[in-house]
Amino acid sequence: MLADLTALTPADFADAAWEDVASWYRELEQVPLSLENVEAWLQDWSRFESLVGEAAALALIAYTSDTTDPVKEAANLRFAGQIIPRMEEQSLRLADRLLSLGYRRPDLEVLLRKLRTQREIFRSESIPLFAEMEELTSQYQKITGGLVVSWEGEEMTIPQLQPLLKSPDRAVRERAFQLASQAYVERRNELAELFDRLFALRTRVATQAGLPDFQAYAFRSKFRFDYAPEDCARFHGAVEAVVVPAVERLLERRRRRLGVASLRPWDVGADPNRRPPVRPFATTEELIATAGRVFARVSPAFGREFQVMADEGLLDLGTRKGKAPGGYCETLPHRGRPFIFMNAVGVVDDVSTLLHEAGHAFHAFAARRLPLVWLRHPGLEMCELASMSMELLAAPYLGREEGGFFGPEDLARARIEHFEDILISLAHIASVDAFQSWLYTSGRGGEAGARDEAWLSIRGRFERGIDWQGLRPAQIARWYRQLHIFLHPFYYIEYGIAQLGALQIWRNSLTDPEAAVGRYREALALGDTRPLPELYATAGAALVFDPEEMRELVALVERHLEAWDTDGVPASQVEARAQAR
Ligand SMILES: [Zn+2]
Repeated sequence: MLADLTALTPADFADAAWEDVASWYRELEQVPLSLENVEAWLQDWSRFESLVGEAAALALIAYTSDTTDPVKEAANLRFAGQIIPRMEEQSLRLADRLLSLGYRRPDLEVLLRKLRTQREIFRSESIPLFAEMEELTSQYQKITGGLVVSWEGEEMTIPQLQPLLKSPDRAVRERAFQLASQAYVERRNELAELFDRLFALRTRVATQAGLPDFQAYAFRSKFRFDYAPEDCARFHGAVEAVVVPAVERLLERRRRRLGVASLRPWDVGADPNRRPPVRPFATTEELIATAGRVFARVSPAFGREFQVMADEGLLDLGTRKGKAPGGYCETLPHRGRPFIFMNAVGVVDDVSTLLHEAGHAFHAFAARRLPLVWLRHPGLEMCELASMSMELLAAPYLGREEGGFFGPEDLARARIEHFEDILISLAHIASVDAFQSWLYTSGRGGEAGARDEAWLSIRGRFERGIDWQGLRPAQIARWYRQLHIFLHPFYYIEYGIAQLGALQIWRNSLTDPEAAVGRYREALALGDTRPLPELYATAGAALVFDPEEMRELVALVERHLEAWDTDGVPASQVEARAQAR
């Protein structure tokens, strides 16, 4: 059929305009389609989208590696702003052809279900509403990205204030916290108005799709086939009953160590023993070499794959001027390789970020042999299971005696921070998800004052042990800082589900690491060819929404937390001690 496709490479699409891409879609749409040629047609479609997808990924990588180059910026904008969104529209039309044909194959069941759901909720009259939302969300980014404060006469952005929240000096932390909150408090009305408009648009999209509210729409558009809003409500209840008390205990320990009468919001990020930050590596080369040893300990296959990435220039880890902030793992679908981008400066967070992104990368390696590009990318619940599990599976090899990054004291600090972060994040995730559910189902999500009140009361369920007295505006401002609520509605609980899944895989690894890693790899290799619960089951985990299962996992984390938190115990004995309890 489209024989000349096989001769093309992503480079042939590097300068493509929409018309160049559109002509391929027209061909795919005009080919007479039958059950006899549908497999070859799918192959062509997949191959074509891999080529363009890789060209787009390369444009993103080039731009984020050097944001000062206007040519790279324009190329990335061409893909992200013009080509990719229109490709999605075209894909829907091709999907229509596929669905009308009634073609089925076991490994395509999940994909076909997604396509059917997309077709069910798609309304052409919603397209301009989405464009309006796009405009509003970029306004949110402009407002929040442009916030600056004055710190000792110097202009600083909110992210630049973050390190100050870890300062051993309490007065510095308080000032940094107050400044950051104040910046949001000052723009509260503007952001509330923006949300009013987003809320109205999202509600209209749901109505046009014939659904009762935007929550119902979001569950469909996110292909949440295996859990419902009621499960999420159970999740919130379980977190409140099981995780929140555990967080209260760790915060109380922190309060005592800091020697303060009550724990204020600016005390949560500080090291309770007032030590300087850990420096796990000095250069990017050292980061790569050490991480390579760690991954090889988890599994020789991971060690080899990470080495391939290093050899083929697929790791851009160090920070430098002109590089975009943040970190990501991007897949090059044609080549079947992942690419990791980050801004390492030599702190503990860099190690965690690399372990996390490498989990995504190993996922891409494992799934790359699946025949169609769409089969390689399951939902976020599974993608984050891959990355969060790697953070835990690699942890036993992070000590210097194992070839890793940390001396004994620093290792304990890093592990404690990770475990604490897991518990604190779960409570935060539940609060954000419960709030979003309230926004779109209470009937009052369009009222600015009611939203703030609801946030305070929901937050009160999940955030205990922190003294917010006299800080009401700052406490309200917290939800305006949660960009997901504005930019990616309902996208959050996936992290909670994945974290609890990762804890189960880690638990399995404590008794039989080789078997646990084997099952994990097997699940990654399935891509999106099985329903979510089956992917989890293959990895040795389940979707957890209930307090009973959550309690067991939280208790395990607390046992390890306490074991690591005991001064003077050699690292090698800690795991055994935690296991024995
Ligand atoms: Zn991730």
